[in-house]
Amino acid sequence: MKEERKGMLIVISGPSGTGKGTICARMLAEDPSLVFSVSATTRKPREGEQEGAHYFFLSEEQYDELLDRDEFLEHATVHGHRYGTLKSQVQKRIDQGLNVVLDIDPQGARQVMARRKDCVSIFILPPSYAELRRRLHTRNTDDPAEIERRLGNARGEIEQMDRYQYAVVNDDLDAACAQVRAVIQAEKQRTTRYFPVVE
Ligand code: 5GP
Repeated sequence: MKEERKGMLIVISGPSGTGKGTICARMLAEDPSLVFSVSATTRKPREGEQEGAHYFFLSEEQYDELLDRDEFLEHATVHGHRYGTLKSQVQKRIDQGLNVVLDIDPQGARQVMARRKDCVSIFILPPSYAELRRRLHTRNTDDPAEIERRLGNARGEIEQMDRYQYAVVNDDLDAACAQVRAVIQAEKQRTTRYFPVVE
């Protein structure tokens, strides 16, 4: 059986603290057809983060230069830092038949969904606001006022969930991963992307 597959753009988004990064990491580890779109950011690297693997860590000036050259598919300011998806991370790899995964915030997801109607969009939800607050606290990276601000943002983002094609509640990580995996698998089989040749 000869077959050909077109690559796709997969947008995984959701409020801060829903665990979308962990879900993306799992999907990428298990499916070699998936590749991660490494974003540019002006925030400083955290311990263990590597340039070019987690992010391209840029100065404000370097980031402005990329903006001027129209190098971003989308960009947004998230929690006081700037982040953007580089066009160079996306189209070339889709043309090679790879599936490019974006782990981006809802502001950026809106831009991608508007520009790339062919993308697959998945919104990751927390099981409750109480649980989201608990997760934001245990991350221990933010002060209480910042946590309340993120919870407020989360409410607005969740109200606009219907902009996305799919919603997955991350109550149990294995179950959420199974649902995201099922979406990706089904999307791969679309006849607009999958071309088996029956001999
Ligand atoms: P962190 O700094 O914790 O890695 O990420 C903070 C937030 O920024 C997360 O919600 C993450 O999904 C989002 N983010 C990471 N890269 C991008 C990007 O290129 N564009 C947008 N819009 N958001 C991003």
